[in-house]
Amino acid sequence: MRFGSCGATQRDGATIARMKMRQKSQLPVKTCAHCGLPFTWRKKWERDWEQVKYCSQRCRRSVAAAAAA
Ligand SMILES: [Zn+2]
Repeated sequence: MRFGSCGATQRDGATIARMKMRQKSQLPVKTCAHCGLPFTWRKKWERDWEQVKYCSQRCRRSVAAAAAA
């Protein structure tokens, strides 16, 4: 049995570094509550990303219209 602990540690470090880099470029994604399509974080949603539920104004408006009707 040869479990090289030194090699494993090195590889873990590299994996974590790579994940961090990927996370930086990978923006958060949500699913639109109206059309069900995934949409990506946008700069305009920077302040209220947690409140964003719809991929577009259109979806938000159609839900609002349905609720009002
Ligand atoms: Zn939508």
